[in-house]
Amino acid sequence: MKEFDYVIIGGGCAGLSLAYELDIHQKLDRKTLAIVEPRTEYKRDKTWSFWKVGSHNFEDCVKKSWKEFSIKIPSDSKIVKCDNFPYQSIDSGLFYDKINERLTENKNIKFFKNIKDLNTSNSFIFNSVPLLQNAKSNIWQHFHGIEIETNEEFFNDSTVSLMDFDCDQRNNVHFFYVLPFSKNKAMIETTWLSKENKSLKDYDSQIKSHINRLGLKDYKINFKEEGAIPLFYPINEKEKNKVNIGTAGGMTRLSTGYTFLNIQEHSKYIRMNIENIQNAKKYEIGKKYQFLDEIFLRVLKKHPEKMPDIFFDMFGASYITAIKFLSNKSNILEDLSIILKMPKWIFIKSIFN
Ligand SMILES: Cc1cc2nc3c(=O)[nH]c(=O)nc-3n(C[C@H](O)[C@H](O)[C@H](O)COP(=O)(O)OP(=O)(O)OC[C@H]3O[C@@H](n4cnc5c(N)ncnc54)[C@H](O)[C@@H]3O)c2cc1C
Repeated sequence: MKEFDYVIIGGGCAGLSLAYELDIHQKLDRKTLAIVEPRTEYKRDKTWSFWKVGSHNFEDCVKKSWKEFSIKIPSDSKIVKCDNFPYQSIDSGLFYDKINERLTENKNIKFFKNIKDLNTSNSFIFNSVPLLQNAKSNIWQHFHGIEIETNEEFFNDSTVSLMDFDCDQRNNVHFFYVLPFSKNKAMIETTWLSKENKSLKDYDSQIKSHINRLGLKDYKINFKEEGAIPLFYPINEKEKNKVNIGTAGGMTRLSTGYTFLNIQEHSKYIRMNIENIQNAKKYEIGKKYQFLDEIFLRVLKKHPEKMPDIFFDMFGASYITAIKFLSNKSNILEDLSIILKMPKWIFIKSIFN
């Protein structure tokens, strides 16, 4: 059986980002890497979006960047400028192609479909397959989106509609998210924050009625995306000779579902410590964010009806503060200014139960 210095389990976002980061920094010139990935072909399956608060290796996979976004609740709406931290969308198809083209050039990197084909007893493992427990009682961000194309110019392609809560909430948290890639192409997504609940999954009719409300009649669908992001930590433990990465490694920010940039930072951290990775300190999203997000989710579970206003008010402070807070880059004063925008009594009560 074949043996490798490193094994990455799961060649998705985290696995490939790490392999790429190691390869471009010549960490695989004298070390071997196996990537275990069951999928038979790579094709566009996701659109990863985030505020660009730091550098990443995939600027050439950015489908579009925006300098403003809007938030809407039934009684109000606002446009938030974000020139310093543009909102970017990465096309996963371009990302997979770019990385796979590069990795196939390195003879020290091999792909496998099944870990059973490897002897991993002497390898260091990076695992991106999450072990999810209590999936039913926890909160998920689940969504379905369609990328549509219209004949006429219809969309304002300078503004992302980040959260439009002016829609049916069904005692949960629901919003529409629109990424206008051009004046006649946009991704329209219906997004829920809820426990697993089949009755919320009539996504097609939700999107249809939203499109009707926008007054859009003629369009064709070019791409569909569906997914669910766990807003709870997987139970994968750190083991000797193994580090968890990606969702499995706790890289998802629980209050937002944003994961992509955390994965990139984790990859850099691993690359910088690769020579002594067995003894490197566990990389985590800051403890303060873990604590605050836990309270945030308790509020969400108990008071879903309050969440549209809570998200809306969060952007009442400076946009820089809100984006830094949601991207785990805020300082203590910025944290405080966000916390002071929250309904205090509800949050205080949620600390204790
Ligand atoms: C549709 C969708 C859209 C998202 N959009 C955003 C976004 O806009 N912004 C953001 O920040 N985050 C987003 N996320 C969250 C997060 O960034 C992604 O889930 C990201 O893909 C997580 O990377 P990962 O490597 O942990 O998981 P994945 O990318 O899912 O990779 C895991 C890999 O493991 C493979 N695998 C599964 N089982 C096994 C096994 N037994 N053995 C070996 N391999 C296995 C899978 O085939 C897959 O390739 C999105 C998530 C989804 C699902």
